[in-house]
Amino acid sequence: MVQENGFINSQGKLPLVSFGVISDVQCADIPDGRSFLGVPRYYRHSFLVLQRAVQKWNEKRLKFAINFGDIVDGFCPKDQSLNTFKRIVNEFNLFNGPVHHMIGNHCLYNLPREKLLPILNIPSHDNLAYYEFSPIPQYRFVVLDGFDISAIGWPKDHVKTIKAVNFLKERNPNSDKNCPTGLVGRERRFLMFNGAVGKQQLEWLDRVLQDATKLNQRVVICCHLPLDPHAASNEALLWNYDEVIDLIHRYDCVKVCISGHDHKGGHSVDSHGVHHHVLEAALECPPGSNAFGYIDLFEDRLVLHGTDRMRSREMVFGC
Ligand SMILES: [Zn+2]
Repeated sequence: MVQENGFINSQGKLPLVSFGVISDVQCADIPDGRSFLGVPRYYRHSFLVLQRAVQKWNEKRLKFAINFGDIVDGFCPKDQSLNTFKRIVNEFNLFNGPVHHMIGNHCLYNLPREKLLPILNIPSHDNLAYYEFSPIPQYRFVVLDGFDISAIGWPKDHVKTIKAVNFLKERNPNSDKNCPTGLVGRERRFLMFNGAVGKQQLEWLDRVLQDATKLNQRVVICCHLPLDPHAASNEALLWNYDEVIDLIHRYDCVKVCISGHDHKGGHSVDSHGVHHHVLEAALECPPGSNAFGYIDLFEDRLVLHGTDRMRSREMVFGC
């Protein structure tokens, strides 16, 4: 049964726009398993969660939807990767509106960027997956590529792979670079399944924020990897979350950063009043339960209506 997780009335006003959200579907045609920490994972059931999400989004007549990444699990047999992606994207396409996808580490375990980005219909240049869109004049959405500098997804001899491997070597002494043993506090983010936003992308973000400020637009940042240590586990953070946050804080236009990757979900408000929200994973819903939602966006706040395991929340923006 689909149960809306709490109802929040936002002062009786009509939202400017409403859109669907889902994260970490991590589908694969394999038996249920567990995460490294022992959390159950339901690789086949997550497809049903997605189906129910799309059904709900259509019922609500939402304007668009955002997938926060990791739609196919890394354990998906590699000869099935392409078909699994197609099956899931086809399901997303049953939504009566545009779906904005972003890439996650699990996507990159399955397919190289040049195959992945066209399937997900991600506007790209040089196989990078950052872009922006403005569904209504008052708001700008920025989708970051958190694996711009990454040891996964680029060819082995690519300059970005080499840069990422060296970066990890300097910061993580373990032979398995996905292991955080010995790393303390926020250093625990220096793992191979994370990545960084590169210099060129930071410059682009700077230009977008400048432009949004000029146009008096508010900005929603979307990134598979979380950007605030108070909203997510240290092990889930973007390598250079601090650089991205420093840039965001130079402007007043960014109101909220939404991400996935840290399956348990989380929330924080940072020192500049920016909300950081991590969406709960569809993958970890026991059969019959759900984790998806939709967001009503207002001038001064957003209201996330979560279903079952996705928590609802009203986020009032600072001025
Ligand atoms: Zn992830």
